[in-house]
Amino acid sequence: MMIRVSYGTAIAMGLVKAKMFAKPTTAYLMTYHEGRCRNNCAFCPQARESWADLKKLSRITWPAFDVEQVIERLPEGGFARICLQTVDYPGLVSDVLKLLDQFQPLGLPVSVSITPVDKEALEEFKSRGVDYIGVGLDAASERIYPEIKDSLYSWDEMWCFTADVIDVFGEGKALVHLIIGLGETDREAVETIAKAYSMGAWVSLFAFTPIRGTRLESAEPPSLKRYRKIQVAHYLIKEGLAGPKDFEFDEKGSLVGFGMDADELASVLPPEIFATHGCPGCNRPYYNERPKKEPYNFPESPGREYVRRVIDSIL
Ligand code: SF4
Repeated sequence: MMIRVSYGTAIAMGLVKAKMFAKPTTAYLMTYHEGRCRNNCAFCPQARESWADLKKLSRITWPAFDVEQVIERLPEGGFARICLQTVDYPGLVSDVLKLLDQFQPLGLPVSVSITPVDKEALEEFKSRGVDYIGVGLDAASERIYPEIKDSLYSWDEMWCFTADVIDVFGEGKALVHLIIGLGETDREAVETIAKAYSMGAWVSLFAFTPIRGTRLESAEPPSLKRYRKIQVAHYLIKEGLAGPKDFEFDEKGSLVGFGMDADELASVLPPEIFATHGCPGCNRPYYNERPKKEPYNFPESPGREYVRRVIDSIL
């Protein structure tokens, strides 16, 4: 059986010899499938109609290795967790179960990002060491969802799946992935974030990254300023400090105020909110960003003084 390993993870465990910009704290792995995914998400190199390199997911390359070889080398990476990404194809659940069985002797907690599966499958995952499930909603608005996702699963089905995950794994264990920059307005994005937290899910933010060979290859990524606004709004919603009703929007639905002045914001925002927000032990380095450019999500907290700089730039 083969498995894909993110380039950084492969370097960290010594499967590939190359220079690393930031060491991943989680082992990022992906199911191996000869063909493309059944779904046709507009941003995704794995999509049914994409002509991108199948070794790609976001801007990361995922070389394939034998599972046994990966299991043998994995302890060398000193990882805190395994994060298994999946592509959707018939037989996926049985492949995931086989992989989870192989991971078990390593004794690491496992996160699985997967398209909707039934509760029975979720229970099976849980009994094999899975503690978090990534829900690839991706589109942060119901309006753009059908065009962007072109998937077997509707907007409503994705939310039902999120509820099932919470039923099986508990509050905070469903991580709804949202990609900022797919055509949603700020208002739609913050309302979707609020919806997720109101039902007991968490949100993991990503920045849209154009990849050659995908339907959105020529689209622009979001500006850093817009992404920072969404990160700030996300934190305020998550902590119950403010919500969409407290925020101010212009006529296009863009965020122009958070219902707090700069000093109030500075007193409540920690710098960690600009770092990767995922499962415990996840730093996902350079998933959306090029090394040497200011990252959308820092692999570690950027420090206290950065908060003031962001506030000055977004207010
Ligand atoms: S379901 Fe996931 S892997 Fe499949 S096309 Fe969509 S984003 Fe890509």
